[in-house]
Amino acid sequence: MKFTLTTPIYYVNDKPHIGHAYTTIAADALARFHRLRGDDVFFLTGTDENSQKNVQAMEKAGESDLVAYLDRMANTWKSTWAELGISIDDFIRTTEPRHLAGVERFWRAVEASGDLEKRTYTGLYCTGCEGFKVESDLVQGKCPLHPNKELDQVAEENWFFALSKYRDDLLAYVDAHPEFIQPEARRNEIRSYIAQFMTDVSVSREVKKVSVGIPVPGDDSQRIYVWFDALLNYMTAVGYGTDEARFARYWPADLHLVGKDIIKFHCALWPAMIMSAAKHDPMLRNADGSPKLPKMVFAHGFFTLAGQKISKSLGNAVDPRELAPGIGFDAVRYFLLREIAFGEDGDFSKERLMERYGADLANTLGNLVNRVVAMSRKYCDGVPKVDGAAPLPIETSWHAAEDLPELKTEVDAGFEHARPDQALEAIWKSLFQANKFIEETQPFKLVKEQPEATAQVLYAVLEAIRWYAWMVTPVMPETARKIFAQLGLDADAEYAKGWDAGLKWGGLPPGAPLPEPKPLFPRVESTDAV
Ligand SMILES: [Zn+2]
Repeated sequence: MKFTLTTPIYYVNDKPHIGHAYTTIAADALARFHRLRGDDVFFLTGTDENSQKNVQAMEKAGESDLVAYLDRMANTWKSTWAELGISIDDFIRTTEPRHLAGVERFWRAVEASGDLEKRTYTGLYCTGCEGFKVESDLVQGKCPLHPNKELDQVAEENWFFALSKYRDDLLAYVDAHPEFIQPEARRNEIRSYIAQFMTDVSVSREVKKVSVGIPVPGDDSQRIYVWFDALLNYMTAVGYGTDEARFARYWPADLHLVGKDIIKFHCALWPAMIMSAAKHDPMLRNADGSPKLPKMVFAHGFFTLAGQKISKSLGNAVDPRELAPGIGFDAVRYFLLREIAFGEDGDFSKERLMERYGADLANTLGNLVNRVVAMSRKYCDGVPKVDGAAPLPIETSWHAAEDLPELKTEVDAGFEHARPDQALEAIWKSLFQANKFIEETQPFKLVKEQPEATAQVLYAVLEAIRWYAWMVTPVMPETARKIFAQLGLDADAEYAKGWDAGLKWGGLPPGAPLPEPKPLFPRVESTDAV
């Protein structure tokens, strides 16, 4: 199966901070999960470069060469993701020729469908959102997301997109596809926006008002509104307008991950744009004639940093590369995806990070691996030579061979539904049981009376650890490799088996040697993290 997932494309008016890293890490974990399962994954991120915000940032930096500025900033974003090990398949910049070609084709299709019309727009515009605002959007006369910014009074002639024409089709799509808007709590909010508040939207700006933006095909006086252009990155990156085979392979997107502030654009404007263009462009239609719409938009929440909003002016917009020296980026990935229920708001603090590092990672996962590998070496000279499928000869509260396949089902469901937090919670619940099992069976005492039962106990936990290594791979890829190495296994050979075949009880070869254990999560006295 193919699996196409995207992050939003980011403005290049600043370098990435932990908020951007959060979205991108979550997407990375889901991409890695689908690759392990053997899916044909296309994981996309990129930069939104046709925005006035970038121009303002460049001017603030005292520069005047926009192309040089955009090149440099796009590289900063690209290299940050590379340094953090984010496994993207493509990085799109909206100033690239492939994007411009697709946008032009798409605009022409919407035009041919009769959904573009020149009208005079008078109203409000928030430069923070790069969005037109109507009364119902405002709180005390201000944009609720940018209460410190004055709204611009705009009066100009623009191209309007007949968005309200698609009200019924959008509602029908939302109702027929409950998975389209996630988490579920967002659906009613979007549904009522579509049903009651959605109006036609201006999709261009006058050239004399904005200095950047893709020119409207056939109208030199106008530039395409930045959101109309930006949303199209998801299609142009997979070949819309330039590579039909690639487009047929990877479109529609299976998952757009977005922040909750931009979900409306993704669940109303975006599908309506596609519905419109699909009337004219056969590439955008399914075999039954219906438009090829994205399958799921998942909005995550926002988080604060030690209780404060993350912002440049507060000086807490930490570079994700500098978050946690000494404890490793896997720990940060684990923390972000475990601590915050995906879809809800949360808080990032050094204290909580270090708490989870100590309790969940060092004590629960790290110690289990360390102790069990050490005991197996000592008592059994490696992986115990036992029949891993045979029932344990002693009474215990945990039966790994039965528990782990159930755990796999939960982990599958968590990652499939874009809920890495739920997958991790299930894994850690099982890890607690595995630790309890060691307390209960006490192999270090048991070995004196019943060496064979001890060997079976240790094999069960070692094999469980192999399963845990597999299951934490999407979130902690480096840690997973270290765990496989502790078990004397080659990670790539394991991964070559595939997710379902790899996660079969008894995959750990009895009698194999075990290398000397090393702590997975070394104690850190103090860290400069956040
Ligand atoms: Zn705003």
